[in-house]
Amino acid sequence: MTRVVEHLAELTGYRDRDLLDVSLVESLKDLLQPQAVAIYRCVGEMPQAQHWITRARLGPGDVTATADPLWSDLENLPAVESIPDRFTCLSRQEAFCVPGPPAKTYFPLTTEHEVVGVLEFDSAQPLSTEDVRMVSNILRIYRNFQGLLDYSERDTLTGLLNRKTFDESFLRIAHQPVAAGASPGNVEARRAVQATTWWLGVIDIDHFKRVNDNFGHLMGDEVLLLLSRLMRTTFRIHDHLYRFGGEEFVALMRCGSEIDAAAAFERLRGNVERYVFPQVGRITVSAGFTELRAGDSPSGAFDRADKAIYYAKQHGRNQVRHHATLVAAGELADESRDSDVELF
Ligand code: GH3
Ligand code: MG
Ligand code: MG
Repeated sequence: MTRVVEHLAELTGYRDRDLLDVSLVESLKDLLQPQAVAIYRCVGEMPQAQHWITRARLGPGDVTATADPLWSDLENLPAVESIPDRFTCLSRQEAFCVPGPPAKTYFPLTTEHEVVGVLEFDSAQPLSTEDVRMVSNILRIYRNFQGLLDYSERDTLTGLLNRKTFDESFLRIAHQPVAAGASPGNVEARRAVQATTWWLGVIDIDHFKRVNDNFGHLMGDEVLLLLSRLMRTTFRIHDHLYRFGGEEFVALMRCGSEIDAAAAFERLRGNVERYVFPQVGRITVSAGFTELRAGDSPSGAFDRADKAIYYAKQHGRNQVRHHATLVAAGELADESRDSDVELF
């Protein structure tokens, strides 16, 4: 009992989701000594085209947990239906055991609204009823804790990250280019991380006031929600998507080149332009983006993207503009370096 409480105290000390999942599998391994224990989450579009991403796995003899890199390409991850027992767990939404060897016990991972993944145990014998009850209760605490984190970090309307969390993630990204999973020994992963750069884009709905004026605030909110869904499907699983307030959105994304970054924002612009919003019809968005620089401050980078979007708004809307390209063309002055300097 004391050990369970100790593990729960440690688990609920984390704010970082990656560490939280690692801590959960470590706790369960320590408490139940299974051969293996792992957390798999569903990523990708619901309900088709969903894939399994390994969030944390401790196999036989593993000292530290392993995970799929967050920047894995969706197509390279196994499709949810390709692993039938896990897939069954998603639809049954209750724990069950498949006799071994090894015996495999599956627990659904849920939020308040949906099943988001599966916890999988491999053990010589099926877990006892008492152990199943203990794991289910730990998962309830884990779910409640994740709910609290969501409440403080996410926008209630769209479920995207809120502005409050932006500075913290920005600074973490800007100053720690080697992401979790790219351990010192994992040369390939490190190379992949270092070969890419981070980009910040601001996305703003064009003439959104007209949507509210013509269709009412509730329909306006519906448009914001649908736009956030389009953002989720357009960007990749490892990109950080924020609602900054009102009808302004931000994407912090990792990608290899300016061409890739421009293509991602352009893809969003095109997807929005083609989408028919129920009752409202067509809307468009403008976007401005910039590459993160060494020593960038969150507000410095945001200002550059904001200047680029302002330019887009002034030049016809429904377009994507890159800050450095506008500076190189003499269309914008680059004052952001000066604005990064703090005055005492
Ligand atoms: P543009 O960006 O193209 O220059 O024009 P706009 O009409 O979108 O510009 P502006 O930023 O001036 O107006 C944004 C409007 O968004 C103002 C407000 O009515 C609306 N708005 C802000 N927050 C919300 C919200 O949470 N829900 C809804 N429905 N509307 C919101
Ligand atoms: Mg607008
Ligand atoms: Mg606006």
